[in-house]
Amino acid sequence: MPDPASNPPSPATAKSMDEIMALCKRRGFVFQASEIYGGINGFWDYGPLGAQLKKNLRDAWWQDVVMNPCWGRTGPSGERVRTVPLDSTIIQHPRVWQASGHIAGFNDPMVDCRETKQRYRYDHVQVFTRQGTTSEAPMFAFVLGTETENRQRKKAEKKFDMKMEVVALSDIAPADWPKVLAPHAEAIGTLTEPKQFNLMFKTYVGATAGEDDVAYLRPETAQGIFVQFKNVVDTTRVKIPFGIAQTGKAFRNEVTPRNFTFRSREFEQMEVEFFCHESEALDWFSFWRKWRMEWWESIGLAGENLRLYDTPQKDLAHYAKAGSDVEYRFPFTAPGFGELEGIAYRGDFDLRQHAEHSGLKDNLKYFDMTRGEPLPNGQPKGEKYFPHVIEPSAGLDRGVLAILCEAYTKDASRPSPEIMRFHPRVAPIKAAVFPLVNKDGMPEVADRLHAELQGRFGRSGFIETDAKQSIGKRYARMDEAGCPYCFTVDGDTLTGQTVTVRDRDTGKQDRIALDKVGGFLAGKLGA
Ligand code: ATP
Repeated sequence: MPDPASNPPSPATAKSMDEIMALCKRRGFVFQASEIYGGINGFWDYGPLGAQLKKNLRDAWWQDVVMNPCWGRTGPSGERVRTVPLDSTIIQHPRVWQASGHIAGFNDPMVDCRETKQRYRYDHVQVFTRQGTTSEAPMFAFVLGTETENRQRKKAEKKFDMKMEVVALSDIAPADWPKVLAPHAEAIGTLTEPKQFNLMFKTYVGATAGEDDVAYLRPETAQGIFVQFKNVVDTTRVKIPFGIAQTGKAFRNEVTPRNFTFRSREFEQMEVEFFCHESEALDWFSFWRKWRMEWWESIGLAGENLRLYDTPQKDLAHYAKAGSDVEYRFPFTAPGFGELEGIAYRGDFDLRQHAEHSGLKDNLKYFDMTRGEPLPNGQPKGEKYFPHVIEPSAGLDRGVLAILCEAYTKDASRPSPEIMRFHPRVAPIKAAVFPLVNKDGMPEVADRLHAELQGRFGRSGFIETDAKQSIGKRYARMDEAGCPYCFTVDGDTLTGQTVTVRDRDTGKQDRIALDKVGGFLAGKLGA
């Protein structure tokens, strides 16, 4: 949720979302889903460059979380962090969602009051606004069916000393919500945005499609991990503390999808459930909270547009014991921030719930041979417990969006005024090779270099080649696509075996030896 911050927006965020979205469409990063049918609200497709950018971000996460967890750091227990991967299904047994609390009771969009802790049906809340205009004036909310509209109006007009008219809360623009006084609240601006609590997409499993066959598309990847906890422990040698990680699609029937891909109805998550003993949980929470922030910085989001925000105790879910969000200052949230990743200390809530609902009870507990009273032989007796869980839960699409916003740079002095300054690790195009002109033996040398680079670096992104148009136009196209390095074969290549290398960010060109290009690029890409 965006929240107001005191610092003014940096020049980096004084960016136009319309321009960013236009570039995304024009260069094939993001398209509206089903566009030729008019689009479908809350769904987005990634074009060729976007698909590769997204894959690179997912791969970076996988590499740093699963293959080389936390860059080989040691955690608070002094051991290196361990994680194992999982790939669970989108459709789970419906009882998974009963146990997790996702099915519980709510079928309508609801708004909460942060002050009174009351929850209201979104479509039941009406608002008195100043007659004629809503600008600057406070607004007075009431719930349909509590008192007559007239009595409410009198209260509202007395409280704010102005003539007021009634509208539905859903007619108030989100930007005006901070002016709304919630029912029975003292402070204004305490209503949360509407949330559809039973936000899960329903489907039917099997041919009969009766009510007994109802299933849901997962609203988070996390529960798939919890329900396989025992299988993972029984089949691998993992010992607590350890994490189970997975990436995958999640679906939420969001009431108001908006802000490009930020709030979509289909999106991808990258989650770890990190299991540890209760006595170490807060230390692990601090560890993950700090490292996740560093990770987002490492892929190019460093600076004042990124922050770590600790969730105030009163805003935590009832089972959560601590929570922090990594947040990015998107152009549409500025000067506030929007969540990229939530790191939550969930206690042992989920495993306990599944132990209860599945009937497995204590069988879902972990047996820890390193704990418990010492036996006469000096060995510990062992302890059976529900591990506590730290959950770093990141949004892949929000990560991509933050990277797109951060990378987008305008420089009117350049022939290509729009530049995407992607970190080389995530850039979808890693390099381009151009013959200066399409003759005199240059295309052949360029083709050979292109093939060499593709063989060496093609696993992590495209290596482009292009012989058409002026060289300036070709550089400009690569700047817009965020390609960090262009190598140009020219007349001197044929005589001196050197090429020019052009740096996207500075526009500067240097000459390097043809046979040093691969090594140069390896150094720059960290490959
Ligand atoms: P928000 O408060 O913005 O709705 P959340 O706190 O409900 O998010 P979580 O349940 O913690 O989100 O999900 C973990 C991550 O999944 C979020 O940090 C975000 O990056 C991503 N995410 C959640 N909902 C969406 C969505 N509708 N569209 C895109 N990404 C999402």
